[in-house]
Amino acid sequence: MLQSVDVGERSVDNYRGIVADEMLDELHQVAGDLRGLRVLHLNATPYGGGVAELLRSVVPLLNNLGLVAEWKIISGDQDFFQVTKTIHNALQGGKESLSKDSQNLYIETARRNAAMLEEAYDVIFVHDPQPAPIPALCGRGDSLWVWRCHIDTSSPNPEFWAFLSQWLTVYDAAIFTLAEFTPPDFPVKQVEIIPPAIDPLSPKNFPLQKAVARQVLEWIGIRLDTPLITQVSRFDPWKDPLGVINAYRMVRNTIPDLQLALVGSMALDDPEGWEVYQRIRMESETDPFIHIFTNLTGVGNIEVNAFQLLSDVVVQKSIREGFGLVISEALWKGTPVVAGQTGGIPLQMADGVGGYMVNSVEECAESILKLLTDKDRSLELAKTGKERVRQNFLLPRLLLNELSLMKRLTAGKPLIRTGWEAWRDHVCGMVVSNSVSAPSAEFGGKTYVFCSKACHARFLKNPEHYTQ
Ligand code: UDP
Repeated sequence: MLQSVDVGERSVDNYRGIVADEMLDELHQVAGDLRGLRVLHLNATPYGGGVAELLRSVVPLLNNLGLVAEWKIISGDQDFFQVTKTIHNALQGGKESLSKDSQNLYIETARRNAAMLEEAYDVIFVHDPQPAPIPALCGRGDSLWVWRCHIDTSSPNPEFWAFLSQWLTVYDAAIFTLAEFTPPDFPVKQVEIIPPAIDPLSPKNFPLQKAVARQVLEWIGIRLDTPLITQVSRFDPWKDPLGVINAYRMVRNTIPDLQLALVGSMALDDPEGWEVYQRIRMESETDPFIHIFTNLTGVGNIEVNAFQLLSDVVVQKSIREGFGLVISEALWKGTPVVAGQTGGIPLQMADGVGGYMVNSVEECAESILKLLTDKDRSLELAKTGKERVRQNFLLPRLLLNELSLMKRLTAGKPLIRTGWEAWRDHVCGMVVSNSVSAPSAEFGGKTYVFCSKACHARFLKNPEHYTQ
């Protein structure tokens, strides 16, 4: 069985007062038609990076809306993730090549994971290239398959694209962040454009009192009596951390007590992170004003929240970017941003909204300096950026887009959940085909059977809820 990721519980109604009531009402209405729908989100890592960030909020909220959603991850060794990172880089236009052995490792790892996908689902979302071949290898079954691409695939390396796209032909739909990301000759007919969003209630984004945030940053060695600029991102060459260090050095010529924090996470599926980390360390060794932190040394969601709240400027000097959740995260906290003009970043910012977009180290340094030296302008930009995030990039909008897609995809399709005979799973509504081996529970003198361990566990948490 593939490994499940535990996500806890959340309530959609907690977003009242943050997003428009009409949006939440529509969310309940669309979800009402999908009650009991079994949904799986499948990706490669439970932490580090935007996909994990999204799923940690999306999956529990789908459950709260009455669907039965799970998050599972595929497994692979370091060599496999080296290969998938090479594919990731090549799809973003990198000049890589993939040996026959690497191709075989990718396919064989996907085949092993495909064999571990045991339960039945109505809709399966497969995120990014790592697990992409699974439906082609394990068979589509009765599920609808959606490939969710989070990276900029507008000009992929053709050799890699030919290799990947052969696995995509079986999908029912695909989602990209921007229309421009859909590669030429894309083999899936139904293409949806859905930008990601941030969760304003997650520990990374909830309102943190400034005094607490100050304590958090001082605790890890940041001085708060001198200016601070921060980049929060995986240690990845596409995020250009060395470019950030160079820009910071230029600004220091004018503001000598400027501090730079590079906050980077190590993701399970990104072995390149360590190499980049070493390069940054070497580059900054002699500069006590550069601080480098990782999730492995205890800098987690609350610390990231504090950095994004208290930095004078947040930098995201990406050269390629799928979306860049970090932009919306910083703007949501009222902090101005200087960011590379690439991928999904211009969706979130514009000239005069949120901060400045840049195309070189020099422009980056100039823009940081402008924001550090003109506080009024800086606050004004941050305010407009926050409003743009409120209108467009908060989680309920993303949920609504994805539920609407599921509704369209499942319309007229006989779903697993539609049988309501004696062996109905009272959590998800599915008919349990093999009631002898199915997990079961006794409650109120009756026996209940379940299609999966997940439904069984959900029932045991609150049996009254499912038997009323
Ligand atoms: N992140 C984090 N700690 C870090 C670095 C990044 O929690 O040290 C988070 C960041 O806050 C954001 C996500 O990882 O939520 C990165 O998503 P983004 O879309 O910006 O980039 P990706 O890693 O998906 O390319």
